[in-house]
Amino acid sequence: MQSMTPERPDLSFDPATPEEWAALRALGHRMLDDMVAHLETLHDRPAWREMPPDVANSFEEPLPRSGSGSAAAYRAFHERVLPYPNGNLHPRFFGWVQGNGTPLGMLAEMLAAGLNPNVGGFNHAPLLVERQVIRWCAELMGMPEAGGLLVTGGTMANTMGLAVARFAKSRESGRDVRTNGHQAWPGVAPEAPLVFYGSSETHGWAVKAAEWMGLGNRAFRQVPVDADYRIDIDALEAQLAGDSAAGLQPFCIMGTAGTVNTGATDDLVRLSEICRRDNLWFHVDGAFGALAWLSPTLREQVRGLERADSLGFDLHKWGSMPYECACVLIRDQQVHHDAFRTTASYLAQYKRGVTAGGTYYAERGLDLSRGFKALKVWMSFKAHGIDKLVAIIEQNVAHMQHMAARVRAHPQLELLAPVPLNIACLRFTDPSLGEDTLNAFNEELLLRLQERGIAVPSSTMLAGRFAIRVAHVNHRSTLADIDAVVDAVVSIGRELLSERAGTARGAATAIV
Ligand SMILES: *Cc1c(COP(=O)(O)O)cnc(C)c1O
Repeated sequence: MQSMTPERPDLSFDPATPEEWAALRALGHRMLDDMVAHLETLHDRPAWREMPPDVANSFEEPLPRSGSGSAAAYRAFHERVLPYPNGNLHPRFFGWVQGNGTPLGMLAEMLAAGLNPNVGGFNHAPLLVERQVIRWCAELMGMPEAGGLLVTGGTMANTMGLAVARFAKSRESGRDVRTNGHQAWPGVAPEAPLVFYGSSETHGWAVKAAEWMGLGNRAFRQVPVDADYRIDIDALEAQLAGDSAAGLQPFCIMGTAGTVNTGATDDLVRLSEICRRDNLWFHVDGAFGALAWLSPTLREQVRGLERADSLGFDLHKWGSMPYECACVLIRDQQVHHDAFRTTASYLAQYKRGVTAGGTYYAERGLDLSRGFKALKVWMSFKAHGIDKLVAIIEQNVAHMQHMAARVRAHPQLELLAPVPLNIACLRFTDPSLGEDTLNAFNEELLLRLQERGIAVPSSTMLAGRFAIRVAHVNHRSTLADIDAVVDAVVSIGRELLSERAGTARGAATAIV
């Protein structure tokens, strides 16, 4: 060991002198002031803008061997990152289902990183914060006996639910999936393929999960939907019967509360009854739609989710938490633990001291080291209260009812799906536009809407028809923002029509 000499001082990432600490504090205050100013002036900015090529190219810079200092690193953020986000903070961002985050959530993230606890387990206040958040979520969703944990997103929350479902139902049927997986081991009798069910409108996480869990994506049986994009129960029954007759082993039915395309919700009560009858696990993907349960006026739409064996939902979508944050609730806490329980000598736990309580969360999911996602939820629930969250959810739905009404009333606009919740799928139409031209026409319309920074809806295809899809989980939007989107779709649509007319005239002239 080399002894530390004045020529070789002890190193650390912390500031070394009181002056350096003061400089860090000043820089931190500037960061805070800049971010608050950014949030305060969102309405004055475009919803999105293209990065200039020199900015985009600047991210090709070489690996920094020697540091340029915190102030320079912050300057790079301020000049090249801050001005070019994807827009999801903006009051007229309605793309995909991306949440805004909140100012308080931002501050809580700083506190969480500052305290920097590892919430995989052990005996400390941050762990109790997460347990309290999970208890609150369980109570909110009408599953007070459930446990669970916070994870990165809906994909992971739903995948955790499906993983526990597979463990629970295969164990009940005498299979040891933790030991054998899905491989044909010598001496182990071959086992029926495990299959699970959801509608064809199920989000893409289910295919990924089936592949990653080693089930193979053919294990995910995609059942057709009815005209309202809800799972066709008769088709489900037929497929269940057919699969069982063919020697497959159904283990889970998934219902969606709020499909990603149109916001439709499956008949969750019926699905739960089928699960009870056939001894199947009932999982609900409520990525954003589960939060409708919190509203007395919207609850009926998602009734049945409280019967789930497991429920996955995001807090970074309709819960307005900054990325990342989602929750999975699992009713049977014992089976949840059994599905992920691990032991390791380097994780020995004692009844007292730092390790008391053990690796609680690490034994209920895949991650060992886990960040302090719970703090932003805990502080936001306390600061804003659940009633405010519910009021914002109801405001979003009211906005979309308003948009749907305007679309229905306008001769050049068409709704392509019902608007049960917070998603509207629409397009511009005109008698001069044939069905074969409408898709490209509306695609161009959407791109202009985005590129001009007016608003950011996204798109989807519904029965072969291109839809401008407005998915609304935006707590910053006003009714005027909603009107601005409708007005802009009409005006850009008319602009495109007149361009077409101009081209047609030009072509006619050329022929003459
Ligand atoms: C967004 C979404 C997901 C995936 O959630 P992520 O947080 O993006 O991983 C799953 N299901 C539905 C219905 C969704 O809308």
